[in-house]
Amino acid sequence: MFGSLDTVPELLKNYQYTTGEQHKFLGDYYRLMVSESVETGVLLNNYNMILSVQDLKSIQHKEFILDMWYREQAREVFVEAMATAIVTSAPYQISFPDLKIYRLDNRWGSCSPKSQRVILNLELIKTPKECIEYIALHEMLHFRFPSHNLAFYGALGDLMSDWKEREDMLNRKYRLT
Ligand SMILES: [Zn+2]
Repeated sequence: MFGSLDTVPELLKNYQYTTGEQHKFLGDYYRLMVSESVETGVLLNNYNMILSVQDLKSIQHKEFILDMWYREQAREVFVEAMATAIVTSAPYQISFPDLKIYRLDNRWGSCSPKSQRVILNLELIKTPKECIEYIALHEMLHFRFPSHNLAFYGALGDLMSDWKEREDMLNRKYRLT
């Protein structure tokens, strides 16, 4: 329905945060409805994304409120995806790492076995849960297989047989830049 918007990479969209704008959340488009209110925040209702802000004219303020909400949602959804990845990768006995959520402009996630840390891109919160679960599992497997070698892809394929479709969806529909 809004397929044409997908041709513009997310980070290159020049959002104005005005009513009618389309914003993504977990793979779906929501129609932004901006209203002035002392209480700031975001509510989803029937594919509307209701953004309550104190200053309708400040793009920075509106961006900040929406960004805070995305970060809250990301924390919840990503922790869940990591927990799922731990269950899926049980044979490899990977424990829950230090999870950081940053906005990265050139990758969906990264893993640092040395510091027991996984970084997930905040932008993932705009993609379907299947994609988030794939990236979570991919990064977690790097604790056992640091490089993209045959053993890594063998383990990935065993644990998530459709990982390639999920990766293709990310690269095709949710390009960063
Ligand atoms: Zn990797």
